[in-house]
Amino acid sequence: MTNRTPICAANWKMHKTRPEAAAFAVALPPLVAGELERVEVWVCPPFTALATTTEALGEAAIRVAAQNMHFEDSGAFTGEVSAPMLAELGVDGAIVGHSERRQLFAETDEALARKVPAALAAGLVPILCVGETLEQREAGDTEATLRRQVEADLVDVADDDLERVVIAYEPVWAIGTGRNATSEQAVEAIEFIRALVAVRSDAAAEAIRIVYGGSVKPGNAADVLSPNGIDGALVGGASLDPNDFAAIVAACR
Ligand code: PEP
Repeated sequence: MTNRTPICAANWKMHKTRPEAAAFAVALPPLVAGELERVEVWVCPPFTALATTTEALGEAAIRVAAQNMHFEDSGAFTGEVSAPMLAELGVDGAIVGHSERRQLFAETDEALARKVPAALAAGLVPILCVGETLEQREAGDTEATLRRQVEADLVDVADDDLERVVIAYEPVWAIGTGRNATSEQAVEAIEFIRALVAVRSDAAAEAIRIVYGGSVKPGNAADVLSPNGIDGALVGGASLDPNDFAAIVAACR
């Protein structure tokens, strides 16, 4: 048993207009009211719906994260948004290193090594995604890939700050494919990631939350997420419907 509070986060990706986000933010709190003492619930809307979502959630104890951020506070970076800008909106965190950003938008570990400390410096919780592709898994390179990402992305985070990071183990082959990792595969990877953190700090390894993401649905959530050591879920497709997401929140308990 651990003292870590599980996390369940909704990654809406490029979905939901502001009225749709507001409707979700009004619908969700009563659906998860019974879980909020035991599960930390996060919603990650597109940039355009962040303010609407924080406002519509009101006093509900549900946190809001962006899906990306730049590592500089300000500057000539057209199209980018900084961590202090997000904090000013009342946002609590930012997903960084999602595989879609790594694969489609050339997000590098060098950039992530700057984004994670920049998020922490602005008071945001970085939700750092790591995970192997199918090719890497089939070539037996899962651990080497995770090691490279975790070591590189956290290199400039002080040992004492590591526990403020949330890591999402998201095997790329399971994202949006309907093919989830088995709980054994998820536990194995998460234990490996925790051991990598322990090389830096035993206390941080004990405290850091490491969640699983990849085709989690109401129908498989209890199965995939039940083992000790999986500290919750990052949910894409199934998080767009408040009832489906609430069912997954309940499974994260
Ligand atoms: C994600 O985008 O982080 C994700 C886990 O997506 P899905 O649940 O749709 O696989």
